Amino acid sequence: MQKKAELYRGKAKTVYTTEDENRLILHFRNDTSAFDGQKIEQLDRKGMVNNKFNHFIMTKLEEAGIPTQLEALLSDDEALVKKLDMIPVECVVRNVAAGSITRRLGVEEGLELNPPTFEFFLKNDALHDPMVNEYHIRSFGWAKDEDIARMKELTFKVNDVLKTLFDEAGMILVDYKLEFGLFNGEIMLGDEFTPDGCRLWDKETRNKMDKDRFRQGLGSVVETYEEVANRLGVNLA
Ligand code: ADP
Ligand code: UDP
Repeated sequence: MQKKAELYRGKAKTVYTTEDENRLILHFRNDTSAFDGQKIEQLDRKGMVNNKFNHFIMTKLEEAGIPTQLEALLSDDEALVKKLDMIPVECVVRNVAAGSITRRLGVEEGLELNPPTFEFFLKNDALHDPMVNEYHIRSFGWAKDEDIARMKELTFKVNDVLKTLFDEAGMILVDYKLEFGLFNGEIMLGDEFTPDGCRLWDKETRNKMDKDRFRQGLGSVVETYEEVANRLGVNLA
């Protein structure tokens, strides 16, 4: 499948139309951004690592019965996906407190959250992705009741699958963000699941193995993503 026209250039990926009006090509660029796009850097190999990582994870999720955008890996840094009608909210599950929840609620980083907690955020950089609740989503018409329920159900199902997957590879899945969209009326997982959109800590040392390395200037960002991929058995060749 060939790229036709650029549809959207995001902070980390470029989206292209194809000859098939129901399929898109996602190009994973090396651009890495944080703080709503205020800190941006090019990191060698990141597009390739994230594209292959995302393909590996979405394949695991499909195998577990979670509907995703997944169609095919096209090249090192491009994937063919279903064109979803994206719902403009981010679904976040947290198993351990880190990031914004520590600042909002004044809790210590590392506090175990049992049961895991769930939050919705509006996807809007200009407003700094504010937290919203289900009433906002309904009142502003961002999604219907049954789609909200399905996004929550699938986000928790992803947790069941991935917590175990990362645990068996020596990592703690601290938190993650998912984006969903509609395809022929069905909610499907879109966008990406990579170390750019989740937090992963080494089980023994609690070293950060995700985008916090970039946010906090800890260095070895892509090398650490590659380490995560190697531990899971993702083929980066
Ligand atoms: P951002 O928009 O946050 O800067 P990206 O650089 O990752 O993020 O851009 C990718 C864009 O493509 C996002 O707006 C995302 O919602 C959208 N997108 C991801 N997957 C799909 C899909 N399968 N169908 C339609 N749009 C998608
Ligand atoms: N996240 C993301 N994109 C966003 C906001 C958050 O991928 O626009 C991810 C982030 O990497 C983390 C989780 O969602 O894994 C929770 O993020 P948090 O609310 O703690 O915000 P942060 O402090 O990371 O900005």
